[in-house]
Amino acid sequence: MSVHDAEAVVVGGGLAGMAAAIAVAAAGLRTLHLAPPAPADRRTSALMMPIVEYLRTAGLIEAPAAMGHALTQIRIIDATNRLIRAPETLFDARESGLEAFGWNFANSKLLERFQTVAEQQDNLERRNLSVTGLSHRSDGSELTLADGTTIRAPLIVGADGKKSLIRAASGFRARENGFTQAALVCDLDLARPIGGTSIEFHYQQGPFTLVPAGDNRANLVWIDERAVLQEVQAGGKERLLPMLAEKSQRLFGRVELATPAHVFPLSTLSVDKAGDRGVVLVGEAAHAFPPIGAQGLNLGLRDVADLADVLAGVDRSAPRWAEQVSQSYATRRTTDLARTGGMVDTLFRSLLSEMLPAQALRAGGLWALKLLPPLRRQAFSIGMGLR
Ligand SMILES: Cc1cc2nc3c(=O)[nH]c(=O)nc-3n(C[C@H](O)[C@H](O)[C@H](O)COP(=O)(O)OP(=O)(O)OC[C@H]3O[C@@H](n4cnc5c(N)ncnc54)[C@H](O)[C@@H]3O)c2cc1C
Repeated sequence: MSVHDAEAVVVGGGLAGMAAAIAVAAAGLRTLHLAPPAPADRRTSALMMPIVEYLRTAGLIEAPAAMGHALTQIRIIDATNRLIRAPETLFDARESGLEAFGWNFANSKLLERFQTVAEQQDNLERRNLSVTGLSHRSDGSELTLADGTTIRAPLIVGADGKKSLIRAASGFRARENGFTQAALVCDLDLARPIGGTSIEFHYQQGPFTLVPAGDNRANLVWIDERAVLQEVQAGGKERLLPMLAEKSQRLFGRVELATPAHVFPLSTLSVDKAGDRGVVLVGEAAHAFPPIGAQGLNLGLRDVADLADVLAGVDRSAPRWAEQVSQSYATRRTTDLARTGGMVDTLFRSLLSEMLPAQALRAGGLWALKLLPPLRRQAFSIGMGLR
C-alpha cells in the first residue's frame, strides 16, 4: 500500500491507538498508522471481562492467563478516621456467576502483543512519525507530518492521548480539569501472596490500591496530594518502604520495591462529541479521569469496539462515507462516555470529600452494596461496562 492510498490514518501508538489501527485495518480499510516512539509504559491495566472477551474475539490477545493475572475479588477497607465510615466490604466475582471480574495485564505486554498482531495485517502500514498539523479539505483531512510531508485521507482516528493535536486542530470542544492529587505507581513484592484479590485502602487523601500481579507481586496505585507523593518518591527507598508498609496496614508483612516509583499527574477530560467531519477520537484523546475503578483503558477499548462496529456497516463507495462514520461513531459513544466519566468523577469526589453528607452517602452506599446482593450485582455490571 502506498501511504497516499490510505482510506484511514490512525494517529498515536499507545494501547488505544494500536488497538484502533488493528480494528480499522481488520474492517478492510487501507490503513496508515502514525506511531512515533514513546517512553516505555510501566503501568498495568485491570481490564474487565467484557473487554477481555472483545480482545479475544478480535484476535488482539489469546488466552488471558498466558499474559495476565485474574482478578477474582475486590476488598475495600475504609482507612479514614472520619466520623461516618464505611464497612469493610468484599466483592467476589463468583457471586455474579463469573470466574473473575477481569484480568490485570502489564501495558508493555499488551503493547508487544498488539504489535505482533499489527505486523500480520497486509493493509496496515506503520510509520514512526508524529503529526504536526491537520486541516480539513472537501475530500477528507490533510495531515502534516514531522518530516514536512503531507498525507490526505477520508477518515482520521485521533488516538494521540490527553494533549491530542488531532482533537485541538479539528476544533472539538474539550473540558479539562486538573487535580492537586497525583498517582504513584510501582510494583511491590510482598511477604505473603495476594492471590486474586485487589485491595483498596480508602484514605482521606485518596485510595491506596494493590492489584494482584501473580504470587507475591502487586501493582500499587497510590493516589494522594502530588506534593506528598513527589516528596516520598524523592526520598528513595528509605522514605518509601516504611510509608508503603504503613499504608498497606502491614497486611502482607514486609514490602519490597520491585520497580522504581513513577508519579502521574491526574486530571479529567471530556469532549462534547467524539466524532465529526471524518475525524473520530479514541482513548484519552476523548476522555481521561483518575485511575479509580479501572475505567480508562476499558473505556478506550470500548471506543475501538464501537468504531469497528460502525465501520462494519458502512458502504465505502458512497460519497462522504467517512463523514457518516464519524457522525455514527459520535452518536454511539455519547451515553457510555457520559455515564463512565460521570461515575468516576462522582466516585473520586466522594472519596475525597470532607463534607458529612457526602461521607454518609458513600458509607451508606457501601453498606447497601454489602447487604444487598442484587444491588451489588448491578453495581458490578455498571463498573465492568456491561451494555
Ligand atoms: C496510574 C494509572 C493507572 C491506570 N490503570 C488503569 C487500569 O487499571 N485499567 C484501565 O482501564 N485504565 C487504567 N488507566 C488508564 C489507561 O492507562 C489509559 O486510559 C490508557 O493508557 C490511554 O491510552 P491511549 O492510547 O489513549 O493514550 P496514550 O497511552 O497517552 O497514547 C497516546 C499516544 O499518542 C502519541 N502521540 C501524541 N501526540 C502525537 C502526535 N502529534 N502524532 C502522533 N502520535 C502522537 C504518543 O506518543 C502516545 O504514544 C490508568 C492510568 C493511570 C495514570
